Amino acid sequence: MVFAASSLSKRIRICEEFCTPYRITDGSKFKLKDINPGDTGDLEAEDKPKAKELLSLGVETLAELQERLYADDSWALLMVLQAMDAAGKDGTIKHVMSGVNPQGCQVSSFKVPSAEELDHDYLWRYVQRLPERGRIGIFNRSYYEEVLVVRVHKDVLARAKIPPTLVDTSIWEERYETFRGFEHHLSRNGYVICKFFLHLSKKEQKKRFMARLDTPSKNWKFSTADIKERDYWDDYQHAYEEMIRATAATHAPWFVVPADNKWYSRLVVASALIAALGALDLKFPEIDDAKKAELAAARAALEKE
Ligand code: ATP
Ligand code: MG
Repeated sequence: MVFAASSLSKRIRICEEFCTPYRITDGSKFKLKDINPGDTGDLEAEDKPKAKELLSLGVETLAELQERLYADDSWALLMVLQAMDAAGKDGTIKHVMSGVNPQGCQVSSFKVPSAEELDHDYLWRYVQRLPERGRIGIFNRSYYEEVLVVRVHKDVLARAKIPPTLVDTSIWEERYETFRGFEHHLSRNGYVICKFFLHLSKKEQKKRFMARLDTPSKNWKFSTADIKERDYWDDYQHAYEEMIRATAATHAPWFVVPADNKWYSRLVVASALIAALGALDLKFPEIDDAKKAELAAARAALEKE
């Protein structure tokens, strides 16, 4: 396979090409309906085994790049994952990150905010979870929920304890502005930002919910709340589209990932991360003469034992 035998720089180039169709850096013309959740690019359903093999090679490549990121210790990667229920966020994290050293990776899952969290501005809890330099931070849901679930359900906004005089119809545009500024700030401080929307069709979601009901080992994943959220499908799609239109940027692109086929969506996510880290052209730190002398002395001491 071409990918397997290639140098790191070639593999990075292949990934860059693979993920480019899904990368949105300027949202002004973006329409969600232009992206087909069932898209599998040049691959067909019978290519699934090949795709799995490619993913494991991608996982190895990502691990290589993560080691460099960790050793370099100046950049950090922030991966934002957003999706409707059952789109495969958890599986994506599990598979794409399976080769990465757990010490260099931090996963934060954001749920309904706690009382303590609601006592602060809404960004507070997310800022605390930003990855340190040298690390990959995964936000499983993120500050973007503040323009998704909070927008779709008016009562959630009402519980957020924001002074009522500050809440009006421009609140969503203000939040987009906040995110644009926040991400610009982060990118100027060494954060590489990759935002993913796993774009699932309503039909495929139903199929996955049915599988959760039909398969005993999947019953635990089923939640009645998820079925209720399904009633707000169109509101969510609208909120996602507006959010992507308003917050896609070169330094903080959205990847709109066709998610009806897990084997394909994982390839897109892995390739986007490889391309983003690859673009940093990270090298292992150089050893200077003083360090070389130190190593030679250590070797001599060990040999003398
Ligand atoms: P899974 O279902 O695969 O375990 P999940 O991310 O859906 O993963 P849940 O515990 O089911 O996790 O859901 C988390 C819930 O928290 C979601 O319904 C989401 O909308 C909600 N949530 C996340 N952020 C906020 C927020 N800022 N305000 C209100 N609700 C939020
Ligand atoms: Mg859920």
